[in-house]
Amino acid sequence: MPEAIAYAIGSATGSFSRTTIQRREPGPTEVLFDIVFAGICHSDIHTARGEWGPAIYPLVPGHELAGVVRQVGSEVTKFAVGDRVGVGCFVDSCGSCEQCEAGLEQFCEGEGGTIWTYNCLGRDGLPTAGGYSTCITVEQDYVLRIPDSIPLDQAAPLLCAGITLYSPLKHWQAGPGKRVAIVGMGGLGHMGVRIAAAMGAEVAVISQTMSKEADGRKFGATEYYATSEPDTYKKLRKSFDLIVSTVSGDLDLNKLLGCVKVDGTLVDVGLPEHPVPLRVSMLTSARRSLAGSQIGGIAETQEMLDFCAEHGLAAQVEVISGEDINEAYDKVVASKVRYRYVIDTATF
Ligand SMILES: [Zn+2]
Ligand SMILES: [Zn+2]
Repeated sequence: MPEAIAYAIGSATGSFSRTTIQRREPGPTEVLFDIVFAGICHSDIHTARGEWGPAIYPLVPGHELAGVVRQVGSEVTKFAVGDRVGVGCFVDSCGSCEQCEAGLEQFCEGEGGTIWTYNCLGRDGLPTAGGYSTCITVEQDYVLRIPDSIPLDQAAPLLCAGITLYSPLKHWQAGPGKRVAIVGMGGLGHMGVRIAAAMGAEVAVISQTMSKEADGRKFGATEYYATSEPDTYKKLRKSFDLIVSTVSGDLDLNKLLGCVKVDGTLVDVGLPEHPVPLRVSMLTSARRSLAGSQIGGIAETQEMLDFCAEHGLAAQVEVISGEDINEAYDKVVASKVRYRYVIDTATF
C-alpha cells in the first residue's frame, strides 16, 4: 500500500507532528496522486481544535489539495500519469441521489451522504485523511483538473476558498450592472473580490478596518469600507444587490441586511460559530433574502478552475513548511496571513 508522510494532530489541544499514514492501492476507477501543495483553510482549524464538535483523532486536515498523478487504476479514463490535479472538500458521495444527479454532490442525500476529505468515514469504513500529506487515492469522478496556467501553490486554495465564493456569486448572478459587497478580506474574501470583479460586477469590500484597502483595490474592488467607522452602515443603506459574508467571527446580520437593496440577497458562507440574532423586519421591509451556500459540486468546481484560468485569477499565497503549521494556525486566527497559507509537502 502507498505510504504518505503526513502532519497529524492528536487532540483538540494538541499540536501537529510528522507521521506516516497508509493510502489505498488505487482501485480500477481511482487515481493516486502526489500532493505538492495543500492550503490551510479556517475550517481545518475549527475542526482540528474541536470547535465544531469532537473530531476523529489523530486528524490529518486539508481540503485544498493540488498535485500530480502518480498512478491510475485500470479503468480510469479521465486522468493519466503526470496530469495536474486537485481535490477539494469531498472525495466521494452516493452518485445517484437527486442532489448528486443535479451536480450538487456537496448536498448528497444518499446513504452516508457526502464523504468529506477529512474527519469523516469513507466507504471503506476508515477515517478519511486530508491534504497535509504527500499522496492520496481518490475516485476519478471527485478529482479536478488544474489548468496549466495556474501554478499549483496558487491553485490549491481555489479548491475550497475559490469555489466557496464562485458558487454563490454565480447562483445569485453577480455580473455587469450588479453591485456586490464582499464582507471580510481573508482567504475566502480575497477570492470573492477577484471572482466577482472578473464576472463584471461592481465590487465593494466591507472589512473591519481599512488596513487591507490597497490589496482590495488591487484585487478588483472599486470601493472599500470599514465597519469600525461609525457611519459605514448608514452610508451603505440599500446599496447592494448581493452581499456575501465570509466572516466566521461575530456578525451583525441586521446591519448587513440594511445594506441590501430591495429584492437583494445576503449570503453567508462564513459560518459564525455562535447563533446570530435576526430581526425579521430587516427582510420584510425590502423583500430581502438571507441565504447560505456551501462550496460547490464537482462540475461547478471544474468550471471555476477554468474560469480562473481564463481570467488569470488565482489565490495570493504564502508557502510554508510542515513544521510551520502550528504557528500558521495562530496567525490565521489572528488574521495575519496574506491571504492563504499553503504547505509545501516537499518539506515533509
Ligand atoms: Zn475550506
Ligand atoms: Zn448523493
